[in-house]
Amino acid sequence: MVWHRWHIPRWSFIQWLALLGRLATKDRLRAWGLDNDTSCVLCQGGFESHSHLFFECSFTSIIWEVVKAKCGFVLPSRDLMDEIHWGLTHCKDCSIQSRLFKLCLAASVYYIWKERNGRIFQQIGYESTSVVRLILEEVKASMTSWRHVSRSATNICLILKWGLNVDLLCTV
Ligand SMILES: [Zn+2]
Repeated sequence: MVWHRWHIPRWSFIQWLALLGRLATKDRLRAWGLDNDTSCVLCQGGFESHSHLFFECSFTSIIWEVVKAKCGFVLPSRDLMDEIHWGLTHCKDCSIQSRLFKLCLAASVYYIWKERNGRIFQQIGYESTSVVRLILEEVKASMTSWRHVSRSATNICLILKWGLNVDLLCTV
């Protein structure tokens, strides 16, 4: 689910750290003895931890739900570990939907973490809609290198939904 054939290294690396609970979230900084503010900079209210950021937070749960819907999955947001387990069960094949779910999950974790860091270290913040747009643009760009995609009705529907040319992807 993390280091799959279509993974983007920098996205998967952050996703891997998030799964291990190794990102420098504010709850961990507090546990290390730093007397820091622990409030989430994304929703301005929650206690920042891995489970809050991915995806209990009101700001990030919206992002993940919109991105997931673009993959064709209309399901409520769960936490990152639950999403990974769900993907392991439901996204085992090479279909576009499975590829999209894995890639979108990694991209969402990466860009949410980047948005959080931008707000803390550069005082620059974007609306959730802008973060969603960035995630979708980046995933769409990576889709253009995909090959060996069958011309199933579901695949064609998803390719068109993402605004790509069917002939660009369907090489088998
Ligand atoms: Zn939050």
